[in-house]
Amino acid sequence: MGLDQYVNTFGVACKQRFGEKLKKLTIDAKFTCPNRDGTLGRGGCTYCNVASFSYEHGTELSIPEQLNKGRERFAGRTSKYIAYFQAYTSTYDEYKVLKAKYDEAIIDPDIVGLCVGTRPDCVSDDVIELLAGYQARGIDVWLELGLQSASDKTLKRINRGHTLADYLDTVTRARAKGIKVCTHLILGLPGEEHQDYLNSLHAVLQAGVDGLKLHPLHIVEGSTMAKAWRSSRISLLSMEDYAYSVGEMIRYTPKEIIFHRVTAYAKKPILLAPDWCAYRWNGLVAIVDDLKAKGGQGSYLISKLKMSSKAI
Ligand code: SF4
Repeated sequence: MGLDQYVNTFGVACKQRFGEKLKKLTIDAKFTCPNRDGTLGRGGCTYCNVASFSYEHGTELSIPEQLNKGRERFAGRTSKYIAYFQAYTSTYDEYKVLKAKYDEAIIDPDIVGLCVGTRPDCVSDDVIELLAGYQARGIDVWLELGLQSASDKTLKRINRGHTLADYLDTVTRARAKGIKVCTHLILGLPGEEHQDYLNSLHAVLQAGVDGLKLHPLHIVEGSTMAKAWRSSRISLLSMEDYAYSVGEMIRYTPKEIIFHRVTAYAKKPILLAPDWCAYRWNGLVAIVDDLKAKGGQGSYLISKLKMSSKAI
């Protein structure tokens, strides 16, 4: 594929640190989300159907069973793994419940890292202390924060229920305790275009970040956006436009920042559109072609990354 030649990928970073490419074992620990349980709202973010990121296991499985099932998939490809609490908001519960669930994963001797995916407004100081404690014990800890866009206008439009300020506060508190932060951004959100993605990247780099995950907006069954898409009220990025924008973002990103993901795919029938997101490799090939032609990560000076006059 060749992405590693142009990008400081998570695989490359793991190989440097652990001597092999680690695999993330996704866990659905039966958390919920304040944007779905009524605390902030009930409808959730307009693009979200949590089933689209937890379909691989099934919520009836315990945490050790999910780890075992994931490990079977990667048999012979690695000997060490990261426990990835991915579904819903994985810091949204009582402290003792969170600790018990994380402990259940990291007790597995093959687990050397912990990734916790959450919302920027759901990370208390206690949770940061808990994660810092694992880090001090030698577990490689990542806090994955869904920001999606640095524009408060866009965050409101997609019903995220948090602001850029919430994100900046959490990043500052987590990184002050030595916890690595990986930020998720979505390209192609309604009302946004190329310069908006660069604005989001600029805000995230300015705040300080250790990793990035970039996704194209894709429409999944059961989401609020699915209705808008069915009535032709949403247009989606072509694979070519996505590859162009991601290529530019990668070139502006300093080399030490680790890309955990540069695109995403989903399985039909959960995926409704765009069709190119149904295939794991097509988007990646287009991105690699762009990087090959115009340069890889860090090719552009970050000082040249200008904000548009449009306020974020
Ligand atoms: S995307 Fe995350 S924060 Fe938004 S509704 Fe879904 S689970 Fe909650």
